Amino acid sequence: MIPRRCSFRVASGEPCRAAPLRDSEFCLMHSPEHAHEVQEARRLGGLRRKREATVSGAYDFQSLSTVEGIRRLLEVAVLDTLGMENSIARNRTLAYMAQVALRTLEVGDLEHRIEALEQAVRSGRGQTERSPFDEEPTLALKEETA
Ligand SMILES: [Zn+2]
Repeated sequence: MIPRRCSFRVASGEPCRAAPLRDSEFCLMHSPEHAHEVQEARRLGGLRRKREATVSGAYDFQSLSTVEGIRRLLEVAVLDTLGMENSIARNRTLAYMAQVALRTLEVGDLEHRIEALEQAVRSGRGQTERSPFDEEPTLALKEETA
């Protein structure tokens, strides 16, 4: 069975690849009967993205997709929680966030080590006399200096 495709042609003349709605030759985005809903959804999406950009800028927070981003989120949460009145709940929250932060630091450290290993493997490809694991460590590990 050939899957049905939306009959709409995009600006380049290519057909839209989305599946059409039941009983329609168009997908939801291109169905004339749903034009108003789609426009409203786009408007709300635009407002949402604007608000996200504002909040993200205010907190200097990018996303949860990097260790750096997760670290930043934790910093914001810790500072906000620290600023609250002392309570058992506040201290529990802080202790929990400290655990999460510790885990984030470990993951970040492992990420750096793996990166260094990958670089060493790539630059050492073809050499047999020296293993990449013989390389001098290229990164300054964040050792606590007392
Ligand atoms: Zn379409």
